[in-house]
Amino acid sequence: MKLNDNYKNLNESYLFSTIAKKVNDFIKTNPDKEVIKLGIGDVTLPLCSEVIKEMHKAVDEMANKETFKGYGPEQGYDFLKQSIKEYYEKKNVSLELNEIFVSDGAKSDLGNFLDLFDKENVVLIPDPVYPVYVDTNIMDGRKIIYANANEENKFLPMPDSSIHADLIYLCSPNNPTGAVYDREQLEKWVQYANDNDAIILFDAAYECFISDSSLPRSIYEIEGAKKCAIEFCSFSKTAGFTGVRCGYTIVPFDLKDDNKINKMWLRRQTTKFNGVSYIVQKAASAVFTSEGQKQIKENLNYYKENAKTICETLDKLGIKYTGGKHSPYIWLKCPNAMNSWEFFDLMLYKLALVGTPGEGFGENGKNWFRLTSFNTIEKTREAMERVYDYFK
Ligand code: PLP
Repeated sequence: MKLNDNYKNLNESYLFSTIAKKVNDFIKTNPDKEVIKLGIGDVTLPLCSEVIKEMHKAVDEMANKETFKGYGPEQGYDFLKQSIKEYYEKKNVSLELNEIFVSDGAKSDLGNFLDLFDKENVVLIPDPVYPVYVDTNIMDGRKIIYANANEENKFLPMPDSSIHADLIYLCSPNNPTGAVYDREQLEKWVQYANDNDAIILFDAAYECFISDSSLPRSIYEIEGAKKCAIEFCSFSKTAGFTGVRCGYTIVPFDLKDDNKINKMWLRRQTTKFNGVSYIVQKAASAVFTSEGQKQIKENLNYYKENAKTICETLDKLGIKYTGGKHSPYIWLKCPNAMNSWEFFDLMLYKLALVGTPGEGFGENGKNWFRLTSFNTIEKTREAMERVYDYFK
């Protein structure tokens, strides 16, 4: 018996446990202070009523002999795939039902998809970014190279034709920086991927936060992307499904080698996955009705209002940041050349506020800090008053 030694190469992530410990100690020693958390990467509003209504109906169906459902299709029920297909049609992207795979979330698919790729592939990952891309590749022992995202490139690194990569991760809108690629920039990535016979793993988990119609919400809005890109999407942030669990991945038939990857993913899923529950898929399909779309937009607007409050405060203080406009994340440059932990301590000990040190997302996050809009309007305003009064 031999264990997978690659696990030894994973960096222990002390980020969230260190944050939790510091915050708990602070609360114990300062019981009179109201701590406001703007570090949360999870939604806070409940599921919308349209989703709940459909979910209840599905539960009742399960209680009835005539409508009860056992195992469903591993790749998702057609009713949900059809809704996803129509959602893409609104972005002028036409998909076949069998290019859509429903899953229990983007995180699982991002990790599981690596089953299909050889360990010898070179992986290009932006820094900073959602840490799952790095860790899942370390677990497999793949070589990782980094694309530096920094202030100079507005946290949107572009391809370097002198460097070859086989697998490329792009996350737009980005976690943690909130930066969004525009059409021309994505065209260059698609061109690079096609020139290098590479695959883009495009994480669109935050696409619904994009409110400017000129910005792409799917990589397939770019010509040639179906030849080189797989898109991962999720109901988590779109519709508050973080605890319900549902997502979907698009694997185009046109992708490389004569439809091979779509067939391999189907084989992988039918072998190792037994599908998302009927109740959850019914709930997810309610997101795409016109009432569902209206209701999720109300929730997204609530978060956007918070993001606006944060951005306006930073603007008044002249603190640099990215994100906020098309993202629940605001990525700010720590004032006075502080590193991200020094700034974390200042926010906690002086202002009783919690955010996330940028260092947790990669080397290039060392002097940056992530705030999120996932709190109440009242608490976000109160938090920003504290920031303004301290830094003005
Ligand atoms: N992708 C990004 C960029 C994320 O930030 C997250 C969650 O925070 C996920 C994927 C995970 O999504 P899901 O809840 O669908 O697994």
